[in-house]
Amino acid sequence: MVWKPSEKEEEYFVRMEFERKKKLEEEKQTKLAAKEKKKLQDLHHMKCPKCGMDLIEMGYKNIRIDKCSGCEGVWLDAGELETVSQLEKAGLDKLFGVFRK
Ligand SMILES: [Zn+2]
Repeated sequence: MVWKPSEKEEEYFVRMEFERKKKLEEEKQTKLAAKEKKKLQDLHHMKCPKCGMDLIEMGYKNIRIDKCSGCEGVWLDAGELETVSQLEKAGLDKLFGVFRK
């Protein structure tokens, strides 16, 4: 006797197959998104967000500021604005002296 799946069983297997492929597809998309993100990071790392030229890292005390070699814009990393805001007036003046054009 040949075993013949019932319609319900067939439906179940089709759905399982779809779910399996969907999961594979989602994994592929996640990998692709991660790859794309890495590509963008590599492309933009230490590049000025305004003009695209290279940023030069300059350190003053514990503050590391990235200054653009093109437009001379100054960029701060996360938390650095708070550190700058805690400087005394004299420290601020010195900082501005370092990064002034
Ligand atoms: Zn720039």
